[in-house]
Formats: sequence, C-alpha cells, structure tokens
Amino acid sequence: MSDTPVLRLESVRKTFGGSVVLRDVGLAVPPHTVTVLIGASGSGKSTLLRCVNLLEEIDDGAIFLDGEEITDPHVDPDSVRRRIGVVFQAYNLFPHMTVLDNITLAPRRVHKVPRAEAEDRARELLARLGLAEKAGEYPDRLSGGQQQRVAIVRALAGQPRLLLLDEITAALDPELVGEVLGVVRDLKSQGMTMVIATHEMAFAREVADQVCFLDRGVVLERGTPGEVFGSPTAVRTQQFLRRIV
Ligand code: ADP
Ligand code: MG
Repeated sequence: MSDTPVLRLESVRKTFGGSVVLRDVGLAVPPHTVTVLIGASGSGKSTLLRCVNLLEEIDDGAIFLDGEEITDPHVDPDSVRRRIGVVFQAYNLFPHMTVLDNITLAPRRVHKVPRAEAEDRARELLARLGLAEKAGEYPDRLSGGQQQRVAIVRALAGQPRLLLLDEITAALDPELVGEVLGVVRDLKSQGMTMVIATHEMAFAREVADQVCFLDRGVVLERGTPGEVFGSPTAVRTQQFLRRIV
C-alpha cells in the first residue's frame, strides 16, 4: 500500500471579498482513513470541502489528490470531481427522476457507462444500503433518511477515491440520523476514505481516525478522537466541546 495521502492540503488560504475564511490550512488524509472536521458554524468546514471539490478557488497554497496537484490551473476540474464523491446536507435528488435514474445519471452521462452496467451497479449499491426495493420510487415517496442514503449511493456510483460528507444528518429528524450514520460506519469498515464535517460529536469520536477542530478558518487542534475530545489543548477547543457535548 502506498503511503501517499489520498488528500493533502498545503497552506490553503481562502478569502471571500477580503475576509479570510481558511488560513494556512494543512491536512493529510491517508488511504482508508476517516477525517472528521468539527467546529462552530462559520468556522470554514463547508468551504474547506468545497475547495477540495474545486467548487471554490483557493487564494494560496495547494491541494493534492493521490499526489497530483488538483489546484494546478492546468488540471481539468471535471476529471477531479469524477474522483470525488460528495454528499451535502440537503439531499438534492432530482424529484422528477426515479431513485435508479438519479443514481445512474452521472455514470451514464459523465462516465459514459452503458445503461445496463450502470443500473446493475446501482442496484448492487442500493442492496448494500438496504434500499433494494426503492429503485423504482420517486424521491418524495422516501423518508429523509432513505433519501440521504440514496444520495450516498449516488456519490458512490462513480467509484470515487474520496468521499466528502458535509453535515449529512443535519436536516434529518433525530430518529432518522442513526440509519444514515450506520451507512457511514459501514463505508468506513469497507475502507472508504472520507472527510466528514459533522456536529454529531459522539459519532465523530467513534468513526474518526483523525479529528480537526476548525476555529475561524484555522485548524486549531488535530489528533486522534482520544486526544481532541479527551485532552484538548487549546482553550477555544475546550470551550467548543463544553458547549456542544
Ligand atoms: P461552516 O461550514 O463551518 O459553517 P462555512 O465554510 O460555510 O462554515 O463558512 C465559513 C465562512 O465563510 C463564514 O463566515 C461564511 O459566512 C463565509 N462564506 C462561505 N461561503 C461564502 C460565500 N460564497 N461568499 C462569502 N462568504 C462566504
Ligand atoms: Mg457548513
């Protein structure tokens, strides 16, 4: 197994109209590990994930995917996005398409996978996530938790190297959170490399190999869950955890 991190950020700086949102952010995500980003609203978690997916242009620094600098202006952003799966807070499924069509759209249109092959793979993934019988349903017939699981299947359909999950349980009723976190737990056990922004601290503690506490755009603290949750060194980390846990 190669030691090259799947994802590496080097001194990333991001500003919006003069205000610095990410400051000198460094991060390395080894293969088959889970990195969890925690921090107050507005600390920069979503912006960091959006920079990785090249939805935002960074002002300074560099981002590497499998050792390749993806922030190099010569790199085709679409080729990068094909290697990264993303799930956001809102499920963003197309309401006028069935579950199966939602999942196979990108593989067929973007990756040029033949329909039968795309559908076989989609059904296999749906079965793995306990959604086999939902292939022909429209999204509004599913619960929020089921819709979010379909969004995860859709992100996996392109066989990504890296999965970015941005507060994927934040919009769910509390009783539906568990089924979605269960899927993430399964993906971790299957070796998927992930970067997850979440406010679910108990889950972060359980699933993370590495926890990064973001404070006003700075990685103020990083370590194993035991280190960050058990003995945080920065005063602001202690304050944040006292408020939230
Ligand atoms: P988090 O996900 O941790 O809540 P965000 O990354 O969404 O934080 O936001 C970090 C900061 O960047 C906030 O101050 C937010 O207002 C600002 N921000 C995010 N997106 C934009 C944008 N498109 N334009 C201007 N400011 C933005
Ligand atoms: Mg956010």
